Amino acid sequence: MKIDFAIIGGSYAGLSAALQLARARRQVLVVDAGQRRNRFVDEADGHAHGFLTQDGRAPAAIAAEARRQLMRYPTVHWMDGLADEARVREDGRFEFRVDELGVDAGRLILATGVRDELPPVPGLAERWGRSVFHCPYCHGYEMDAGRIGIIASSALAQHHGIMLPDWGTPTLFLNGAYTPSDEELDALARRGTRVEPTPIERIDGIADVVLKDGRTLTMNGLFTQPRTSLSSPVAAQLGCAMEEGPMGPFIKVGPMQDTSIPNVFACGDAARAAGSVTLAVSDGVMAALGAHRSTMF
Ligand code: FAD
Ligand code: MG
Repeated sequence: MKIDFAIIGGSYAGLSAALQLARARRQVLVVDAGQRRNRFVDEADGHAHGFLTQDGRAPAAIAAEARRQLMRYPTVHWMDGLADEARVREDGRFEFRVDELGVDAGRLILATGVRDELPPVPGLAERWGRSVFHCPYCHGYEMDAGRIGIIASSALAQHHGIMLPDWGTPTLFLNGAYTPSDEELDALARRGTRVEPTPIERIDGIADVVLKDGRTLTMNGLFTQPRTSLSSPVAAQLGCAMEEGPMGPFIKVGPMQDTSIPNVFACGDAARAAGSVTLAVSDGVMAALGAHRSTMF
């Protein structure tokens, strides 16, 4: 298949990029493997927060509505599947495969997102997106200003320890993941965050933290700091330069979401240190404008 613009990843960032190109009457292909980062929230019948006009709506419903509106444009083509084996051709165009099908594209927009790796605490992963979260702005309010557990995965937990008192009464479970300095302990104490050094046995119930010494501390919800990695190797296959963020690597981009490889653009969680639906949608617009203009200027 030969196409002007191919977008790999059809969630918020990719859908947003596609909408701009569709409205410029350009031929655009969206390839999507259907593994949105926040799909765990849908599995828990939960809600997405903080996206203007959609606050409290299911993440899947937001994506489905965006896709429905996008598919009204006749120049948009959709393909379910996983893009792989991406490469830059000698004539400057791009090739990749989706299963048996080869795609030949003039411009590429990578909107492939990231995946989360949680600390190996028994019971934590099953509650991800249900009562375990990473972003206080997205899910802090639903803690009802009550007891919040912070499950440390690294020294990044210190940030949660300082921030989360705005959303409730936090206990920071160090769980051997890091040792705060005296200065850091003072800072936590000034914010009213309790520090619990006893290692965790497992998570029970909604957000009950069972400690190795037999105590159980019941929380309204838990926050942790996942390590992120790019969901797809396509950026690496093309040779895009990367940047190291506090949570993990992401694709390095310029002001128009342009990567280090000419005519390849990247947007959303895959191309920023930390993301949200709003930021993914915003990046998607800019990536589309960058890709579109690159065909003229
Ligand atoms: P994603 O939504 O992750 O989508 C990437 C898409 O690309 C996926 O469909 C994937 O299958 C596809 N893909 C990847 N590789 C390929 C490939 N090679 N070929 C084809 N397709 C591919 N944000 C908020 O604003 N509010 C919230 O309340 C909120 N809650 C969250 C709760 C949890 C538990 C988590 C984990 C995240 C939450 N987020 C929230 C963050 C939000 O999910 C992300 O910022 C957002 O999904 C990023 O959008 P994206 O389009 O960049 O990537
Ligand atoms: Mg940017």
